Amino acid sequence: MSMKKIAVLTSGGDAPGMNAAVRAVVRTALYRGMKVVGVLNGYNGLFDGDVVEMGPRAVSDIIQRGGTVLGTARSDKFRTPEGVKEAAENCKKMGIDGIVVIGGDGSFRGARDLSLNGIPCIGIPATIDNDITSTDYTIGFDTATNTACELADKLRDTSQSHCRCSIIEVMGRHAGHLALQVGTAVGATSIIVPEVEYDFKRDIVDRVMYAKNNGKQHYLIIVAENTCDVNEMAKKLQEETGINTRATVLGHVQRGGSPTVCDRVMATKFGFAAVELLKDGIGNRVVASKNGEIVNYDIYEALNMQKSVDADDLYIAHRISI
Ligand code: ATP
Repeated sequence: MSMKKIAVLTSGGDAPGMNAAVRAVVRTALYRGMKVVGVLNGYNGLFDGDVVEMGPRAVSDIIQRGGTVLGTARSDKFRTPEGVKEAAENCKKMGIDGIVVIGGDGSFRGARDLSLNGIPCIGIPATIDNDITSTDYTIGFDTATNTACELADKLRDTSQSHCRCSIIEVMGRHAGHLALQVGTAVGATSIIVPEVEYDFKRDIVDRVMYAKNNGKQHYLIIVAENTCDVNEMAKKLQEETGINTRATVLGHVQRGGSPTVCDRVMATKFGFAAVELLKDGIGNRVVASKNGEIVNYDIYEALNMQKSVDADDLYIAHRISI
């Protein structure tokens, strides 16, 4: 079946580069002779009929903007079978033949449910956490790691001046990709990720003391969120080492900002690939990046794939930061 009208929406946590993906989807659809509408506020817009027609100029001047111009949301109603049915019915009423869903794993589950209810969907991976198992890369990761790195560098300046230790909590949801990348980039004395069990004495106290005995006078420790209480950790580390230690939680600032070149380019490639599938009536798939290639997978298979932080990369970062 060839599609006449498709929709694009952003769902779940926002990520820098989502706009570049929306732009790519809209422009590719128009190039392929399809109509395209933007659904506002994630899946919620399908219930409220909150859709806007997107012409080529509707996506002008957004490639460089963080956040998402379509808005995003977490829709509880859409999680129910009745909600999905209602959304599918509404799509049919609005003449929407297929949807590109830009978001994370949760959003892909919704895309699968909608596909099974007769509206073919294609997922585009976008989250700053890079925790989508089917792809090496997710839109937003590069921007977020650069933001966190820049902020950690600023903390380094003051830690260095005061001979302090700075414990920095970065985002990542339940994955350590962001922490590992940032920790490596800032030369952290210790990087704590949820995938690798850590021992406070061995992995933090001993490492800091070893570095201190090597003449080091300031220390950065990067901790992924949801692994421990960084304020408690700072207190304990100061007690054990006598080194003045402060904790900083970077928080949602990591989600913002203009997307990097990497995120804009990946978003453009993913957006194009998604529409190329959808235009031929192919749905229930996600696009992904594997070993530098853009590929696509069945959503069910994609959701059941495994991915972890690279233990070798963590080993290297730790060996070098003594
Ligand atoms: P991120 O991880 O970046 O926050 P995400 O897409 O994983 O992104 P979620 O909040 O998990 O974020 O999911 C976004 C939306 O997708 C939910 O609010 C809900 O509407 C829909 N969704 C999530 N899980 C399911 C599911 N099992 N079935 C149907 N819809 C779902």
